[in-house]
Amino acid sequence: MKILVPIKRVVDHNVKVRIKSDGSGVDFNNVKMSINPFDEIAIEEAVRLKEAGIATEVIAVSCGAKACQETLRTALAVGADRAIQVNTDADLEPLGVAKILKQIVKREAPQLVICGKQAIDDDCNQTGQMLSALLGWSQGTFASELKVDANELSVTREIDGGLETLMLALPAVVSCDLRLNQPRYASLPNIMKAKRKPLEVIELNELNVDVKQRVTAINYTFPATRSAGVMVEDVAELVSKLREEARVL
Ligand code: AMP
Repeated sequence: MKILVPIKRVVDHNVKVRIKSDGSGVDFNNVKMSINPFDEIAIEEAVRLKEAGIATEVIAVSCGAKACQETLRTALAVGADRAIQVNTDADLEPLGVAKILKQIVKREAPQLVICGKQAIDDDCNQTGQMLSALLGWSQGTFASELKVDANELSVTREIDGGLETLMLALPAVVSCDLRLNQPRYASLPNIMKAKRKPLEVIELNELNVDVKQRVTAINYTFPATRSAGVMVEDVAELVSKLREEARVL
């Protein structure tokens, strides 16, 4: 079974983002970028399936500018067999990424796509669902456990009320939640080996996909800072404040 893992290059989760002075977007100058944390989990799961003898090949794919190759090398260092960069400087929305991934799925014919549940830059949580709809494949989102059987997939999902287990027919798209696994660190020898693994670059225009933006961002601002809280002596004072001042009771 071939597994395709879409990975996104995002601002590192430890970085406090800055907004450009004209409010037109996030300032990426001199900002550390990394692989999206949920995508690290997706790669880890695919590599574990390969180690268990279930997957035959793990292919990492990233859509974006040349710098994505660095992110793909990280995926190769933790065990992906080869990588594909779909090269574009365009600002991609989830629908555009899903359309591109559909074309890559057509070329590569994987039976399973494992993606992150969301990218931590836009928090969209849309690409996996859109891809499965475009392909007409089964989908299991927010997976916290994945078991693969011949032609079936059992996906345990984290939902508001607890856990839900779905049986999916393959081919399928699965998106990973945080508790699916603990991703490994790349060892130095594997980082060196990753430099020699195949990384194919496909130009976006070769795929004939419409990635026109459908959403216009008008302005970026930080959320208003919260005012300081008030300490109360006891429950009676709390109830009184909620009733008289906040008027929520
Ligand atoms: P999103 O819908 O933007 O929250 O992203 C969900 C998942 O889609 C991510 O965790 C990635 O697995 C995948 N994805 C999003 N954008 C890209 C991209 N530019 N290249 C490759 N995969 C992506």
